[in-house]
Amino acid sequence: SVRVRFAPSPTGPLHIGGVRTALYNYLFARKNGGKMLLRIEDTDQNRYVPGAENYILEALKWVGIEIDEGQGIGGPHAPYRQSERKEMYRTYAEQLIAAGKAYYAFDTAEEIEAMRKRLEEAGADAAQYNAITRLQMTNSLTLSAEEVQQRIANGDPYVVRIKIDPKQDIRFKDIVREWVAVHASTLDDKVLLKSDGMPTYHLANIVDDHLMGITHVIRGEEWLPSAPLHVLMYQYFGWTAPQFAHLPLLLKPEGNGKLSKRDADLGGFPIFPLQWQDPATKTIARGFREDGYLQETIVNFLAFLGWNPGTEQELFTMDELIEAFSLERIHKAGARFDITKAKWFNQQYLKGKSDEELAAILEANNNAPAVSHDTLLKVCHLMKERVTFPQEILSETAFLFETPTEYEEAIVASKWNADAIKAITAYVEDLKIYEGDFLADSAKAIWAAAAERVGIKMGKVMQALRLAVTGAGHGPDLMLTMEILGKDEVISRLEKAIS
Ligand code: GLU
Repeated sequence: SVRVRFAPSPTGPLHIGGVRTALYNYLFARKNGGKMLLRIEDTDQNRYVPGAENYILEALKWVGIEIDEGQGIGGPHAPYRQSERKEMYRTYAEQLIAAGKAYYAFDTAEEIEAMRKRLEEAGADAAQYNAITRLQMTNSLTLSAEEVQQRIANGDPYVVRIKIDPKQDIRFKDIVREWVAVHASTLDDKVLLKSDGMPTYHLANIVDDHLMGITHVIRGEEWLPSAPLHVLMYQYFGWTAPQFAHLPLLLKPEGNGKLSKRDADLGGFPIFPLQWQDPATKTIARGFREDGYLQETIVNFLAFLGWNPGTEQELFTMDELIEAFSLERIHKAGARFDITKAKWFNQQYLKGKSDEELAAILEANNNAPAVSHDTLLKVCHLMKERVTFPQEILSETAFLFETPTEYEEAIVASKWNADAIKAITAYVEDLKIYEGDFLADSAKAIWAAAAERVGIKMGKVMQALRLAVTGAGHGPDLMLTMEILGKDEVISRLEKAIS
């Protein structure tokens, strides 16, 4: 049965592209009744960032990606953190050495650098430590067996390199890219085990995918160049390789290059900032969650970055995506990351939320104003069709919380006239004697009656009423606005306007 993994390196806040990779793995696993694993690839100690692992767990949880097995959950292949599996990788490296498919290399950094220079001067292309150059270097292919043993016994630093046989084509069928063929002579004898005893990404990744029974490797296109090496390593170990699906690159909206972490204005920011990133300065870095993107938006938006359902449907729940998803419908072409599309999704999902749900979001984010829960519900109702982000429900409703001190000039000029003042004056009189509940409906009925009483068409003075209440010529439902303000506040605002 299907087993997939998300295998991030804890080097910082999970990039939005990483979240897409996790999502596609998850959708594929669920669609096929398979399992989704989380493995932490932390073998590069130099790039390790404390806190990043928790961040990854939290981000996946927030997006709604459930892990079946792995770091933070446990499972039959624990530990799922590669640094804790360190010793095991060595035995696999040794297995390849014994089979003549890998070798010890003792070269110093200077020797490697000298070789690089020599090749550069000779105009050689990419592959460097390979079938030809290895013969001039210090390794177990050029030293005698005794010398090798001696050096190891002395504690001389060494790495283990894969011994690539250059006289072959490496071919495999990627589910997205289709046939990929590379000539082995273009590959380096890559390091598998580093001098600190840690495996490189390549060794740890292959060994773990094999041991953990991974059936499909779904990952970003930036790993495609590594795939031929991986395919070859499976051959060398005598293992069946998983199937590969390399996801298209995320591009800037104009298609001009990869979306990077630095493209903050284009949306190249993470799900949420790393809280611990800068506790001293308390800089609030940007994140999708902080900007007010809903979980549903992120899921839907990311699902469409590189895949489409082949139908007109644009709004999907996670369950619907699981149902519709297939690796075969993933595109080859880079996916343009268009943040305006994400905003559109957010508007759609926001509209669909109940007032209670929206109030809960605002209250949870701790940015609800000091109003009662009931009032907050009404404010949510008033604004939800008019905003893109939940927090705008409050930031765009200053008129509810502050009496206007200025009135929109163009509207004053065109709509504030004797009739308006007459109708509003009558309205104030009627409001003062009204004793029932002041709801949107009653606000409207009293207004209609007052206008009629003084012989003025309500429609002609409507905008003036809005102006008097809110200071602006346009805005959300005025009657509901007045209900939220309450009768006394409405009367006081109207009196101020006509005074
Ligand atoms: N650790 C790699 C990363 O950070 C995993 C790549 C893969 O999925 O093979 O993306």
